[in-house]
Amino acid sequence: MVKEAQFYESLDEGLVKCGLCPHHCLIKAGQHGLCRSRINKNGQLIAANYSKVASLALDPIEKKPLYHFYPGKTILSAGTFGCNLSCRFCQNHILVHGQPDTQLIEPQQLADLAWKSRQYESIGLAFTYNEPIIWYEYILDTARLIKEKDLKLVLVSNGYIEDKPLQHLLPYLDAINIDVKAFNEDFYKKLCRGSLKPVMNTVEQAACRCHVEITSLIIPHENDNMEEIREMSKWLAGINPFIPLHLSRYHPAYKFKEEATPASTLEQARQVAQEYLKHVFVGNMPGPDNNSYCPECEGLLVKRDGYYTQIVGLEQGRCKACGQDLPCLLS
Ligand code: SF4
Repeated sequence: MVKEAQFYESLDEGLVKCGLCPHHCLIKAGQHGLCRSRINKNGQLIAANYSKVASLALDPIEKKPLYHFYPGKTILSAGTFGCNLSCRFCQNHILVHGQPDTQLIEPQQLADLAWKSRQYESIGLAFTYNEPIIWYEYILDTARLIKEKDLKLVLVSNGYIEDKPLQHLLPYLDAINIDVKAFNEDFYKKLCRGSLKPVMNTVEQAACRCHVEITSLIIPHENDNMEEIREMSKWLAGINPFIPLHLSRYHPAYKFKEEATPASTLEQARQVAQEYLKHVFVGNMPGPDNNSYCPECEGLLVKRDGYYTQIVGLEQGRCKACGQDLPCLLS
């Protein structure tokens, strides 16, 4: 099925200008944009990845990672290929930069699979693995069907999208995990070929409309400056101090050979972030305490061991020990 892309302008001499993300690619006839997913066919922009699914699996919701959104449940997870950022440390580069095999799954089929996955404790559908923003048209068409079935829709995204398409997408989202890769423009420019500001806008807009969690991959000598982590945490707390922050351990991948982030750096970063935020987790390594505690009485709410999750102190959105209302911790 040929699907016309949304948010583009036709220019002279068969050129098109894509307006989905801040790159605003100018695309000549027969060529594609930076993300490889949008192709100019005779002056019309086509969503070339529409219905092309490269990965499909049933995952624990904690794997997204989402720790405060239906903990202990699973979610059907789908991804395609490509990305609109070019991070030199990409931890998922085979799917993102390679040419994986794909199968055609139309939106109705995917929504039906999500419906069937309820028998395995699934709450709905997540678009993840590669960058979902560049799957925009497929996601919107599927999202409408998911909402008709009263299932949950989740995105795991780099947040690099223009405001207008974001506003069209937000009403369908129940939760999003957004990567804030660093809290400085130079990092985005130098290592990701992008910019921080649009990502900040996505976080701010999404936080008013759906459940939001943030992931930051901490890389030695690149974004492990504690003052930068402090500034990011302050900014997030200004939006909502209950937003969970996942500080994730970097491992050498793609064009980066630097050794994995020391555990001590992640622990220090966590301590800094905890001065401002109520829920800070350390991911991608064994060992750290990643339980959720009540911000009021510090009682244990959710116990985690890897992807094994046990709800121990939570009842109908309240702390069992002190009765504190915890609407952010959906279960
Ligand atoms: S979505 Fe793709 S084609 Fe469109 S501006 Fe972004 S990178 Fe370019």
